Amino acid sequence: MSELRFNPLLGEWVATATQRQDRTFLPPPDFCPLCPTKKGGFPTEVPRESYDIAVFENRFPSLKPDPDVPVVQSTQLYPVRPSQGVCEVVLYSPDHTTTLAQESVERIRKLIKVWRHRFEQLSRVDFIKYVFIFENKGEAVGVTLHHPHGQIYAYPFVPPVIEKELTRCREYFQTEKRCLLCDILNAETGKRIVAENEDFAAYIPFFARYPYETHILPKRHLQALCDLTVREEKRLAELLKQVLSAFDRLFGISFPYIMAQHARPSDGENYDYYHFHIEFYPPMRTAAKLKYLAGSESGAGMFINDTLPEEKAAELRKLVEPVVWKT
Ligand SMILES: [Zn+2]
Ligand SMILES: [Zn+2]
Ligand SMILES: [Zn+2]
Repeated sequence: MSELRFNPLLGEWVATATQRQDRTFLPPPDFCPLCPTKKGGFPTEVPRESYDIAVFENRFPSLKPDPDVPVVQSTQLYPVRPSQGVCEVVLYSPDHTTTLAQESVERIRKLIKVWRHRFEQLSRVDFIKYVFIFENKGEAVGVTLHHPHGQIYAYPFVPPVIEKELTRCREYFQTEKRCLLCDILNAETGKRIVAENEDFAAYIPFFARYPYETHILPKRHLQALCDLTVREEKRLAELLKQVLSAFDRLFGISFPYIMAQHARPSDGENYDYYHFHIEFYPPMRTAAKLKYLAGSESGAGMFINDTLPEEKAAELRKLVEPVVWKT
């Protein structure tokens, strides 16, 4: 059973998805549903002996193309709508034990091509208004399957975080005649840069909410992954590899994070004033301490960062190493 229920207080949709209670929780490695199906072995989500990068529809989706009829009546106070959308799983590698950080820059580039292709395909679906590509990595952020993978949620509306950024960028463009994120990029070059190349910059923003919150921004003003040139695709793969590897070197652990790609909506409107970027929210404060969302963050929406972005950026910057292409 699933449906979208409207919160009139915040003006936001909430998805109920009760079937998700039954989903697989941390199965032993021999029973990973995301591994290739071994000859004579139990069938996994991918009925093949191997794959390179695989994408399939989530079996326990919060949103689906032909959703159930809502079980409650829609009212003026509480609008209800079917939870129509698409939820996909993106498998980064057939190797159960790897992570994106450990993968070659060649594979990361291949993954960018897959993201780009899914963004384009899902954007064409008429009921899809926003395609959100993300990754939850590590048990610290609630991951139930360890196999290296990311997800794509294609929503029937523009989600609130994006809506807020779009409003800020639109208003800034109207008053300043410039892109807000292009101006942010200019303000970030210097002591908050983690790594950069000719086409992309990675930085811990001035306004970071998490100690190691890192944003990756293309230097050229563009709105989505599908606007990247061939060269930019390679430069993004290099920077992702560098940032993710630096994360892992920080505490000598496979670093947990949430990755969120912020692209323009897919509703056919004009978003020339917006600027594509990727945000990472790692929950670690130190090697042993997690940042929890407590009263001020959860109840009031004000984050308290007990570190300085300038210092954390310097820490990460020291751990960035050059990337070598094999092919
Ligand atoms: Zn696996
Ligand atoms: Zn811009
Ligand atoms: Zn953003």
